Amino acid sequence: MLSVTSLVTSYGSIKALKGIDLEVPEGSIVSLIGANGAGKTTAMKSIAGIIKPQEGKITFQGKAIQGWPSHKIVGLGMSLVPEGRQILARMTVLENLEMGAYQRKDKEIAQDLEKVFSRFPILSERKHQAGGTLSGGQQQMLAISRALMARPKLLLLDEPSMGLAPLVVAEIFRVIQEINQEGTTVLLVEQNVRQALKIAHYAYVLETGKIVLHGSAQEIAQNPRVKEAYLGGS
Ligand code: ATP
Repeated sequence: MLSVTSLVTSYGSIKALKGIDLEVPEGSIVSLIGANGAGKTTAMKSIAGIIKPQEGKITFQGKAIQGWPSHKIVGLGMSLVPEGRQILARMTVLENLEMGAYQRKDKEIAQDLEKVFSRFPILSERKHQAGGTLSGGQQQMLAISRALMARPKLLLLDEPSMGLAPLVVAEIFRVIQEINQEGTTVLLVEQNVRQALKIAHYAYVLETGKIVLHGSAQEIAQNPRVKEAYLGGS
């Protein structure tokens, strides 16, 4: 579904991605793990068209999309849930959700809103409240729901569990798995490596702008280097 080849992205003279390759097969959850500053967010933003890569190829649904503006990529069926959620704090929950569907021309938006509200009843209860009044976990659920309102075929999630309490983290991972089982392909960036590898099918390890390891999530979880660096040696 998504294929990235030799992707290079720089900030001025800093090469954040030094030629990465990755594949996200349809129906899967693929996880991208790595330390702070490894380039995970840069990879997500480059794929979603938020920043322009200097070199390389990104193929999504059979189309070469590198250099495309992000709204066109959303239109093709890819949505990003950015790091830090970035919900619109002064707009209501409902308005945030409607923003997610702004490019759609079909008549099933109301139906999809109902789906969001049945998945997350708290968002229904608070639909007329400002997004900024929600707790961190609720804001993450809103950010994920807003992305789903675009009806993506591929959902990119950048650190969805960041800063959340353990019970909320478990809920977020459960929701990601559920969304995948309902047919949405997922590319997941996570600091919570243990949980990410539990739900992922395949994983890539990014270190200072390069993919240093990849394999099935099970293989990666068993890898001594990964255990040492990302799983607290256990
Ligand atoms: P984190 O988990 O901390 O978000 P990351 O793996 O997502 O880390 P990136 O945010 O992609 O890493 O950063 C990769 C490299 O690019 C880092 O060296 C970072 O300092 C640098 N970088 C990121 N954003 C910018 C920017 N806007 N301008 C300059 N350098 C940047």
